[in-house]
Amino acid sequence: MAYTSKINAVVSAKCPRCRRGDLFKNSMYGFAPQKMYENCPHCGLRYEIEPGYFYAAMYVGYAINVALGVTVGFATYFITQEDQSPWIYIIVILLASVLLAPLNFRYSRVILLHWLSPKIKYIKDYDYD
Ligand SMILES: [Zn+2]
Repeated sequence: MAYTSKINAVVSAKCPRCRRGDLFKNSMYGFAPQKMYENCPHCGLRYEIEPGYFYAAMYVGYAINVALGVTVGFATYFITQEDQSPWIYIIVILLASVLLAPLNFRYSRVILLHWLSPKIKYIKDYDYD
């Protein structure tokens, strides 16, 4: 029997305990708001382990956004060296931030559950088909 690697579980946004069940009901991009399962459809783990637990994901999302803004800002600087209008930076960074918001929302929760939640442990016995 093959176990699921952590990196595969993170990239495909799977449950941190069994690495099998999906965290989200719908796909990453689309106009519908993203919906999360309350419990893992495979092992039954309750994702929101404490009330308001996902407020913490906002801090992760904020960190991701800052890293994104810095990266995109530097990329803009190196691509448009002639044009130093601050509006270029504002528009490009805001656009990247808005376009990647669904990704940010999703992965801030994935990172929170997989790396910042010591109460949730991977249990091999749940990692079966
Ligand atoms: Zn699970």
